[in-house]
Formats: sequence, C-alpha cells, structure tokens
Amino acid sequence: MSSSQFQVVVLGTGTSAGVPVITCDCPVCTSDDPNNSRLRSSILLRNEEKTILVDCGSDYRQQALRYRINRLDMVLLTHAHSDHVSGIDELRLYNWKQRHAIPVYGSPHTLADVRRRYDYAFHPMQNGGGVPQLDLIPVEGPFDAAGVAVTPLVAYHGALPILGFRFGNFAYITDGSFLPPATLEAIRGVRFLILNALRHRPHPTHFTVEQATAIAREIGAEHTWFTHITHDLDHATTNRELPEGIDLAHDGLQFDIDVEMAPG
Ligand SMILES: [Zn+2]
Ligand SMILES: [Zn+2]
Ligand SMILES: [Zn+2]
Repeated sequence: MSSSQFQVVVLGTGTSAGVPVITCDCPVCTSDDPNNSRLRSSILLRNEEKTILVDCGSDYRQQALRYRINRLDMVLLTHAHSDHVSGIDELRLYNWKQRHAIPVYGSPHTLADVRRRYDYAFHPMQNGGGVPQLDLIPVEGPFDAAGVAVTPLVAYHGALPILGFRFGNFAYITDGSFLPPATLEAIRGVRFLILNALRHRPHPTHFTVEQATAIAREIGAEHTWFTHITHDLDHATTNRELPEGIDLAHDGLQFDIDVEMAPG
C-alpha cells in the first residue's frame, strides 16, 4: 500500500443542540469568541481528487457552503442520531452535479435507520430528482473509501454500539461513552485523535472532559482534540486547563494526515 496525504477539515464541534443553544443566554451562547460557535459535529477529509464526509447532520448545508464542499465522493456515518444524519437530504445537490448515487457507509443498524428515516428516497413517487440518491453500503470490517484504507472502530454510546473510524495516522470517534479494549488497541499509535467530550458533569451516553482526557493520555497521540461539545465549556478557558497536546477542537480546524491508499 502506498501512502498519501489528506487534509482534515473539522466542519462542526457541537453537541446535538449546537452552540449557541436556541433560547439560551448563558455566557458561552452569547460569547463574542467565534470558537464558542459550534455547528453539529462532522469532519471532512479531502485531497486534490477525493472528498470524504463523516456524518451529515443538521448543519450540513451551512457547512458545505462555508467550506465550499463542491464535490462529495462518499459519506461515512458514525450512527443515525438526528444530529449526524439530518442533512442527508442535501446530498441530492451532489447527485445532480455528479450524476451518480452517493455511497453511504455505516453499520447495518445505522443504515436500517437511515432507510426508515429517508423512506421517500428509496420509494420515489415520481422522476424529477427531488430526492437524494443514496447507495447504502454496510460496514462489516476494514474497507476502502475512495481508495483510502479505513478501519472501523466500535464505540459505545450508552448501550448503543456506534462506529468511529481510523484513517492512517488519524482516528475520529464521536458520541462515545465507552471504548472497548479492541478499539483502544486499534487507535494506539495514531498521531492525531479526535474524541468526544461533552462537558464536565457526567452524562449517560457521552464522555466527560475528564474521561476523554484519561483516554487521550492513555493513547498519547501527538495531538488530541475534543469534539461534540456543549455550551458548558468556554473554548479559551477550557483549553487553558487542558494538558499539553489536548485541546477542544473548534469549527474550521484543519490539519494534514497520512493515509494508506488501497491498491488498485
Ligand atoms: Zn451526536
Ligand atoms: Zn448556553
Ligand atoms: Zn448520538
């Protein structure tokens, strides 16, 4: 396998409600710091030729316009909660431009949820291009995404098993509250890690900052960023308190990773 460089663009770092939270006047929601504005969590991987989206949530239209995502080769889904899939209808814009169905990878359970939620996309009532054309591809093990070797990672979101993904020297895990030993093993040695950290107070289905920090220390990546953040956390204050090499991510964060290209 040969290696290749991709750019990661963090499209959103917010928890399900986003930040600011509708109806909230707290200091973070009313802050002037742009790093306290968090669209729903999602990342993009891109190089000159290929563009891979991980999760397509409620803010995808804004994200696509803000980061000029003019082409999309595929979507990988971590799970089918609304904040990760409710932008899927926007994919029809790529169907029109690229003239093919968009491959959507996820666990069989996630894809079954997508099929239920977007029932109209699979039973079009008329021709006319009004619905997204999706090619649902179940993830059962390591796979190639646009030629990039991807290792799926199991994370538990409360009792729900969901997927994270490792791409070369980078791993992305959102919405976890427990990582099984096999997943910790599979991400050991990454240079860059994005992991979810909701807030300081415990939550049944999301890591706290303290829990995520313990995992980040154990993995020891050169840089770990936290995502899926609620309005409890002020960006600058929290980052001052976090250990070296661990920070809250912010919308628009970009860095380069090395991935393995599958042969052929
Ligand atoms: Zn979420
Ligand atoms: Zn608030
Ligand atoms: Zn979730």
